[in-house]
This record gives sequence, C-alpha cells and structure tokens, in this order.
Amino acid sequence: MAELNIPDAPAISGTTHVHSGKVRDLYRIDEGEHAGRLLMVASDRISAFDFILDTRIPDKGEILTRMSLWWFDQLADLVPNHVVSTDVPTEVKGRAVICEALEMYAVECVARGYLTGSGLLDYDARGEVCGIPLPAGLLDGSRLPEPIFTPATKAELGDHDENVSYAAVVGSVGDATAAELRKLTLAVYGRAEQIARKRGIILADTKLEFGRRDDHTMVLADEVLTPDSSRFWPADEWQPGRAQPSYDKQIVRNWLLSPESGWDRAGGTPPPPLPTEVVERTRSRYLEAFQRLTGQQF
Ligand code: ATP
Ligand code: MG
Repeated sequence: MAELNIPDAPAISGTTHVHSGKVRDLYRIDEGEHAGRLLMVASDRISAFDFILDTRIPDKGEILTRMSLWWFDQLADLVPNHVVSTDVPTEVKGRAVICEALEMYAVECVARGYLTGSGLLDYDARGEVCGIPLPAGLLDGSRLPEPIFTPATKAELGDHDENVSYAAVVGSVGDATAAELRKLTLAVYGRAEQIARKRGIILADTKLEFGRRDDHTMVLADEVLTPDSSRFWPADEWQPGRAQPSYDKQIVRNWLLSPESGWDRAGGTPPPPLPTEVVERTRSRYLEAFQRLTGQQF
C-alpha cells in the first residue's frame, strides 16, 4: 500500500473534521440548522499514480463541485441525492456542499459503456469483467454491446479498488439492495451518457456511491460524474485500439511519465512539482469539460 501524504484539513468553525481522502475533506456539522449533517469540501488537490501531488490546480475544487451539482439536478427524477444546501462557510464557498449524513453502502458502483482501465485488464486476462463475459476481439476504448455494472470494493486509502462479481455484492448487501444498486447505477449511466453524447463527449465509465437514509431510501451520494470519478472522452477523437484522449489528469500523467519530469514511477519517490504550464493546461481541460457539459460559463 502506497504512503499517502494527505495534508491536514483546515479547521472549520462549528464542524468536526471526520475524514480526508486524496482530494476531499469531510466534516460533521456540530451546530445550527444543519447539525448532524456533513460538509463535503472539494480541495484543489490532484492525485496521480496514487500520489497526492504537491502542486494544486487552481479552481479545481469549485469546478468539480459545480459539475457534480449540475449532474445531481439532471438526475433528480431518477434518484434522490444527498445535497441539502450550498450555503456553506465563506472559506469553502463554491467548493463545498452540505449533505445528508447517510449510511454508505460499501460498494463502488461502477457502470461501463466502454472498455478501458481495470475493465480492460480483466478482459485481457479472462475475457470477462466482474464475471460478465464479453465478446472476443474488443480493444482499448471499444464500445460494449451494452453498458454493464462492474462493482468494486472500496480499498483502504492508497490502495486500488478491487473489481468484484455481482454475486459478491449480493453477499455483502443482500439480493434486493444489490439489484437496486445495479438498476440505479445503470439508469444514471444511461441518462448521463446520453446527455454527454449530445455535447460531443463520450462517458466511458463512471463510479457512483449510494447511501441510505434511516427510512432505508436509497440516495445518490458523494460526487457524481466529475472527471475524478468518470472517464470523459472527446467523441470526435474516439478511436478504439489506443488510449483515448480524456478530460482529466491525462496532461499531468503524461508529463510525469515524460523525460522532462525526471521522475521514475517505479522508484517509489513522490512525483516532482508540476510546471506552471502543465497546471494551466490541466485547469483549462477541467474548465472545458465543465463548459462543454453544462453549457455554463465558469
Ligand atoms: P479517495 O481519495 O480514494 O476517493 P475516499 O473515498 O476515502 O478516498 P473521499 O472521496 O474524499 O475519500 O471521501 C469522501 C467520503 O465520504 C467517502 O468515504 C464517501 O463514501 C463518503 N460519503 C460521501 N457522501 C456521503 C454521505 N452523504 N454520507 C456519508 N458519507 C458520505
Ligand atoms: Mg472517494
């Protein structure tokens, strides 16, 4: 397991810090009208190759927060979501949401319409993904005959998530819940894929997290359909058989792997700081995704 250097989350008055991931910080609200709810703050941190980089991408937290909120709205008739309010403390304005504190299902609910990443690795090894057999001859980036539900178990911080079979999900949450998770995940993917396609973007895959209320209603939580949780590809550049250009940290990954960075991925040392030009191009890429998808200016 890789060592993760998560910076200390800044204190926010009236809250208690409860968790930090690679990119986001989670607080429990202690007082006022939202007492008991959560404050989810998206930072400008960026991770690559399982390291949190020392360099920040200005506005990334706000861009991804706004994108996620926009998607929650697009999906509101399919599934309830955890967002309660965007009226958040000034220091995190624009990049935080107040949300319901849910009991989370321990399943990373992934839908894939295209084959790449860990799905491709599993396919190349066994001809199937999460126990779902796929036709022969698929390439990196191939469109699947139909979207599939490929759940994963959430790894400890710094570890990789592990793809699991549908039967394993049934074993962990029971029949009815597993079926509901699969149904909702595919419904969300189907809706989002159509919306993105109209805007010239392929939604290759996405990872969702669901939780439940005390009354057992299933609710869409976490962030949704951001470049940190999904693969977005410019549709006009799609060409199966190679890695696809994408709206995420590809610029960062490419630079880190290039001779200019001087970084040896296999060496185990943290990556060097990013040059200003790489930061600026990465920020532009996130902005472009936001503007193309939502049609809004940032
Ligand atoms: P990673 O950096 O790999 O994503 P992580 O998932 O631990 O690590 P975050 O994604 O930053 O880190 O943390 C968000 C946490 O909040 C996750 O554990 C997620 O399951 C949880 N979460 C999201 N929405 C809710 C909610 N409405 N109620 C309770 N927990 C939630
Ligand atoms: Mg997470």
